[in-house]
Amino acid sequence: MSKPTFYVTTPIYYVNDVPHIGHAYTTVACDVISRYKRMSGYDVFFLTGTDEHGQKIEQAAQQKKLSPKELADSVVQRYKNLWKKLNISNNHFIRTTDESHKKTVQEAFKKMQENGDIYLDEYEGWYCTPCETYWTETQLLDGNCCPSCRRETTKLKEPSYFFNMSKYQDKLLKHIEENPDFIKPASRRNEIVAFIKEGLRNLSVSRVSFKWGIPVPRDEKHVIYVWIDALTNYISALDYFDSNSDKRKYWPADFHVVGKDILRFHTVYWPTMLMSLGVPLPKTVFAHGWWTVEGQKMSKSLGNAIDPNWLIEKFGVDPIRYFLLREVPFGLDGDFSFKALIHRINSDLANDLGNLLNRTLGMVKRYFNGQIPDYKMEDEIDIELFKKIEETFNSVEAHLNELAFNKALISIWELVGALNKYIDTTAPWALAKDKENRNRLETVLYTAMDGIRILSLLIYPFMPDTALEIRKQLNIDEPVEKSNFDELKKVKLLKPGKSIGEVTPIFPRLDEKEIIENIKNENKKEENQKQESKVEQIDYNHFMTVQIKAGKILEAENVPKSEKLLKLKIDLGDEKRQIVAGIAKSYSPGELVGKTVAVVANLKPAKLMGILSEGMVLAATVGDRHRVLELPDEVMPGTIIK
Ligand SMILES: [Zn+2]
Repeated sequence: MSKPTFYVTTPIYYVNDVPHIGHAYTTVACDVISRYKRMSGYDVFFLTGTDEHGQKIEQAAQQKKLSPKELADSVVQRYKNLWKKLNISNNHFIRTTDESHKKTVQEAFKKMQENGDIYLDEYEGWYCTPCETYWTETQLLDGNCCPSCRRETTKLKEPSYFFNMSKYQDKLLKHIEENPDFIKPASRRNEIVAFIKEGLRNLSVSRVSFKWGIPVPRDEKHVIYVWIDALTNYISALDYFDSNSDKRKYWPADFHVVGKDILRFHTVYWPTMLMSLGVPLPKTVFAHGWWTVEGQKMSKSLGNAIDPNWLIEKFGVDPIRYFLLREVPFGLDGDFSFKALIHRINSDLANDLGNLLNRTLGMVKRYFNGQIPDYKMEDEIDIELFKKIEETFNSVEAHLNELAFNKALISIWELVGALNKYIDTTAPWALAKDKENRNRLETVLYTAMDGIRILSLLIYPFMPDTALEIRKQLNIDEPVEKSNFDELKKVKLLKPGKSIGEVTPIFPRLDEKEIIENIKNENKKEENQKQESKVEQIDYNHFMTVQIKAGKILEAENVPKSEKLLKLKIDLGDEKRQIVAGIAKSYSPGELVGKTVAVVANLKPAKLMGILSEGMVLAATVGDRHRVLELPDEVMPGTIIK
């Protein structure tokens, strides 16, 4: 009989970003469920990969004087290296630049076209010429400014192919209704249903404004836009349109695991495309939450996106894998803090699990010369423990099938607690004092060791290295994934008389204060180095090309329809200037009038929201507030500052 299949995917990660803790989170979660399914007898296909096309990559490559493919190659290597360090057991790594992927995407496009679901029309949007990017109305800042460079955008049209997504609106709603597992967690399902009920618009699926992508078949001045290109990876990795492919059997996917920000693409765009293609829909799309770092949203600009490589070096792979899945329910947002991480390591890993192993094997060494004792004299408490073990297997299975990783770990740690309590209650050290109790002592230590063997199976999907280390110390040879799980799950499988391996602590305790102090110092050093390396030295003549003058603010008023801008009239001594400044969130107009401030006087005039601005007021940024540079009253307007 062939094994049942199980197919799980991470999103493909965009190569315009480098791997951070959010990527690690998704990928570790998929790894855990993959390992669990493999050990419980499934034929697993675990897919991850990279999304490499699009205008952002084209531009980023240009800036770095690389070809887009060269840029992608370097970032892809960083992902692959990280997955190796994190012990990720993916079966395949797909890149959207793979030839086989391109072929499948073009085939999908053609099929949708042949089904009458794709038509040529015009795409209209707000275009920023310097950024070469279209923005939607809602993305624009202050009227019609580009959210990336803040310059004015213009409404532009370009020819584009469209996917007739609205055609599938009712069919999709019906599918979601009839398949409560299709979108998880349930709270997210309601959000998506509401979105669909507002009415689906047709989707622009090609662009002519950039080149870096997969050409539209039979109309090569268009490239296929991100939706069809990226989402199709889940079936192109299986060579789905090739009827001879031996990987087709994995479809439909059991889980697409995604961040909540891309849930809509996966539960609206993707299933309607599949409907058009006549391909069955994935069973479940699961949206997990986001991580903040020490209470702050992670972002490129804040520079607080923690590098997982650094974390692994500092704390080890398994503690990081454990922490990510234990700390927060999958599906909710979580906060990463060093304090919480160190606490988990010390209490759950070093104290509860590490100590259990250490004291049990320590006693086996002391009382039985390191040889596994025998199960000789049963007591009620042993039977209770075996019952607890069976219950734990059942609840872990149920939780993992729901991707409730933290609940599975809570169950496992209840068993850790039960085993520690078993030892406290049976008190082998007391039994050892009397030869009469020898049989009972053997039984107790045998039972405790067998419980630890069971734990090694349960924690294996989460912390594979640790599980194998525990098995080495217990001197067990059987591989975890390739054995019959139902056999391995049985109790009393340890072989009496065998010698145990070398006993060493698996998780040393960490000194919280010392580590946090070290991290702070490292950050400071790095920050200083960054500052030094970033700022280029200039000579005096260079500096003098910037003309800074003292200016007295005569008038100030809010710019209508703008939250950020203030229009100022400033006396520069021999002339009066109008300057628009983005400080409305930090000052009311009245606060500013009468202040003498520093003004860059020879800045080229520019229009902000249609209003002429002739200069710039210098200000410091404190968090998200601005503080203008104020000069003493005795400084006359027009005074040169140098
Ligand atoms: Zn722009």
